[in-house]
Amino acid sequence: MASSAFRTVWDGLLNLVYPTRCFVCDRIGFGYFCDDCRSSVSPIAPPFCVRCHEPEAPNLCPGCIADPPQFDRARAAGIFSDPLRKAIHEFKYRRRERLASPLALLLERTWARYPELHRAEAILPLPLHRSRMQERGFNQSRLLAAALTSRLSLPLLEDVLIRSAYRRPQVGLNRSDRRENVRDAFAVAARDAVAGKSLLLLDDVITTGATCSEAARTLRDAGATEVSVIALAREPYRPRS
Ligand SMILES: [Zn+2]
Ligand SMILES: [Zn+2]
Repeated sequence: MASSAFRTVWDGLLNLVYPTRCFVCDRIGFGYFCDDCRSSVSPIAPPFCVRCHEPEAPNLCPGCIADPPQFDRARAAGIFSDPLRKAIHEFKYRRRERLASPLALLLERTWARYPELHRAEAILPLPLHRSRMQERGFNQSRLLAAALTSRLSLPLLEDVLIRSAYRRPQVGLNRSDRRENVRDAFAVAARDAVAGKSLLLLDDVITTGATCSEAARTLRDAGATEVSVIALAREPYRPRS
């Protein structure tokens, strides 16, 4: 508590001397992800897949009909394109941790927009494996989840869903390879925390949804009654020929 209060004061002082610069458009004095950049992130317009939020899909997309994900629904703040893509990239790979708060604002807006998420009783970040965590230095979903839980007054379940196995990154894999790659990658460390609950799983970018689906399966096996997913961005799935 003391350190976060100190940080707020420190940020306030820094802002006087070095006004904030938007990590996306470089404008000075309007925050790390300025209002202009943030308000140009448009929500995914209907029609979209009600299950995985794939844009321009009728009710259920072909992927969800052929192979339904284990989560009940996923909702993202917008499509994975600039300026959102740039903000996520700066946050995740360049460790601009100060983007956690403005990005959580987008998640809060997303939560408000979709009442189907409101039954959730607790938020869980999608975990990183320990070795990936060491390599990257922080778990972006965990920072976002912490920022979002304080905005929504929902409990944050940390270290409840864990990575039980190290898997190669999903980048470059097709849909079925992605599913295979994450099989049994998760475990629940505290069944009591999830049993009988409706949960909100937080990820940064959803592509095929394979990782979230496997995490949701693990949570259901531990007794969760419902698993929704909230994410910053939805990368429309393009089947590879
Ligand atoms: Zn900007
Ligand atoms: Zn779908």
